[in-house]
Amino acid sequence: MERNFTDTWENVKQVLSNQFFNQEQLNWFAHSSIDYFSKEVVVIKAPSAEAKEFYEASMVKSIIAEAVKTDGYSPQITFVLDEKQAVVNTSSGTITGQQLNSHYIFDNFIIGPSNRLAHAAAMAVAEKPAEAYNPFFIHSEVGLGKTHLIQAVCYQLLKNNPDFKITYISCEDFMNEYMTAVQSHKLDQFRAFYRSADTLVVDDIHFLSNREQSQEEFFHTFNYLYNMGKQIILSSDSHPREIKNLEERLASRFKWGLVAQLDRPTFETRIKIIEVKAALRNAHFSDEVVAYIAEKIDTNIRELEGSIIKLLSYNTLLNREITLDLAKEILGEELVSQHVSIDDILKVISNEFRVSLADLQSKKRLKSLVFPRQIAMYLCRDLTNHSLQEIGGYFGGRDHTTVLHAEEKIKKLYKEDDKTKLKIEDVKIKLRQYKK
Ligand code: ADP
Ligand code: MG
Repeated sequence: MERNFTDTWENVKQVLSNQFFNQEQLNWFAHSSIDYFSKEVVVIKAPSAEAKEFYEASMVKSIIAEAVKTDGYSPQITFVLDEKQAVVNTSSGTITGQQLNSHYIFDNFIIGPSNRLAHAAAMAVAEKPAEAYNPFFIHSEVGLGKTHLIQAVCYQLLKNNPDFKITYISCEDFMNEYMTAVQSHKLDQFRAFYRSADTLVVDDIHFLSNREQSQEEFFHTFNYLYNMGKQIILSSDSHPREIKNLEERLASRFKWGLVAQLDRPTFETRIKIIEVKAALRNAHFSDEVVAYIAEKIDTNIRELEGSIIKLLSYNTLLNREITLDLAKEILGEELVSQHVSIDDILKVISNEFRVSLADLQSKKRLKSLVFPRQIAMYLCRDLTNHSLQEIGGYFGGRDHTTVLHAEEKIKKLYKEDDKTKLKIEDVKIKLRQYKK
């Protein structure tokens, strides 16, 4: 949709200047601009993190929404920081446990019929912790936004309660820390730590399946925090009653509050998501390219993102213009989400890097083996639901820290090194072709 960004922003500024804003705020408006505009979404660049936060929390958002409304369309308003890397300021509060992804905030979460209820519930939890829904349990298939949504709650909680101590942890890390605490006789410290949280967030709680000791420990942590009136937030790949080999007393507690599900996004929601994800990377695709991607990928939002990255890297690295033909060429005619196994990954990596399966799975530390092996481990983490231990088992019985180290390292390279990124996206395409 053709629009003149400058004129539109001038109109918005005009409307804003009629309201009561102070000089600093007016200054922010002067230095903001419209980054992207369609009938579905409007992306606005804010000059500083402070300005962005102000826009998100104030009436600015609704004023803009009103000003850009057209032909019966009410685009969703999203703000991005006018810098290469958006940094969310959480220095006022504490999040212990794991690092959060600074993009996983409510403003970047696109709402549609598939997630409206879960999103509204998450907002309610962020506004009224331990009052609205406790525990808050969210489940879905992979790649549909659980982690994004529960991290968004963390950011919002901290914004509202700067003194809160939020502990955010993956279930795997919780279990590993627990085992380490048992072995090193530091169970008291472990318990003191997890019981001191104002809010405990555990991602992928289904990994408790089959782990009796960890279940026992988590049961007591849960009871302690719950009785102290602290908020507990959990995500899982299935409904509590469907988590295999989970003690009944835990399953029933998980249902005490609210169990919300994220479904697969509708076509319209996928369109919106693609537009925003592209805009966050300062890119805009034509309507037909957006529609093509949205049609082809309908089961997993992480894959939607992967295909955007893929298109963009062909554009920046190979100078190819992003046309419908290019999209068809590299995303394939039949891009459906399929179940990928560790064996598939090993075989494709072995082909792509010309290393033998035996070497890949050996303990040899040759440089030419280490890199493909680390990429393979990264892909196992990214594309399968196996635990760190299980993945380690496929690579010559390595322990979970080795797998974790590989994952972190490749994740970093993926962000910083375009060649690695392209290689990984290429391997993913090969994996899809391999599965056909
Ligand atoms: P899950 O934890 O369910 O496997 P994630 O939260 O990791 O899924 O989401 C996968 C990717 O899809 C992330 O990059 C996330 O930002 C994106 N995503 C998921 N749902 C949405 C949404 N509604 N709006 C925008 N991005 C989304
Ligand atoms: Mg997740």
